[in-house]
Amino acid sequence: MTKLICQRILLKLSGEALMSETGGSIDATIVNRLASEIKELSDLGVQIGLVIGGGNILRGAERADTGLDRVTGDQMGMLATVINALALQDAIEHLGQPVRVMSALKINQVCEDYIRRRAIRHLEKGRVVIFAAGTGNPFFTTDSAASLRAIEINAELMIKATKVKGVYSADPAKVKDAVFYPRLSYDEALDQRLNVMDTTALVLCKENNMPMRVMNIFEQGAVMRLMQGEDIGSLIQ
Ligand code: UDP
Repeated sequence: MTKLICQRILLKLSGEALMSETGGSIDATIVNRLASEIKELSDLGVQIGLVIGGGNILRGAERADTGLDRVTGDQMGMLATVINALALQDAIEHLGQPVRVMSALKINQVCEDYIRRRAIRHLEKGRVVIFAAGTGNPFFTTDSAASLRAIEINAELMIKATKVKGVYSADPAKVKDAVFYPRLSYDEALDQRLNVMDTTALVLCKENNMPMRVMNIFEQGAVMRLMQGEDIGSLIQ
């Protein structure tokens, strides 16, 4: 049996992670690739909770700028996360990996309601759990939902997937000499307003001692190597 750095993780994927390069909102090849990474992790014995965003489809705050009521926009955004969750569930299931979508909004004909104790039971039985509909409340983000669920399910580590190596002093795509931070504290991330997660999500993790790894999960096998002890990405704690 491979030695793992922890047994239970919460992985946060943004909706944009599912997008195709040409702008399609859900790219089957990308979803399938993510699904097989998740299955491999689960095969290794890692219990996986997943929070998926909805930004590839809709963000409430952006729609509010066009005149749409903010709460309605956020409800649309939360439903967008359910669409993404179903796509991922389907791809994971096709690989023979048991998986459940649990929604913070009640949509019983489509998926299970989020019930904490049931979610933990699923994880203990080796089922991947995809937490959909964010926190179920408007004015929050799926980053906050990820922090909340990570704490609720007693995850030992939260992993925030990014397109870059980890946390930088500035956007490395725009600033050539942006500095990479392999380690930092929540206070540093908050004080320097580093672009990691929104403040609510960071404060929740800080106050509940939830360590977070920010890393590029699109590098094949990276999460797997992290689980086996390799120092990958940035660690915030
Ligand atoms: N949302 C919400 N409450 C939540 C989580 C999400 O109202 O607890 C809405 C909000 O409108 C948000 C959208 O769902 O813009 C999609 O989530 P997010 O922007 O976090 O997705 P990501 O950027 O991770 O793809």
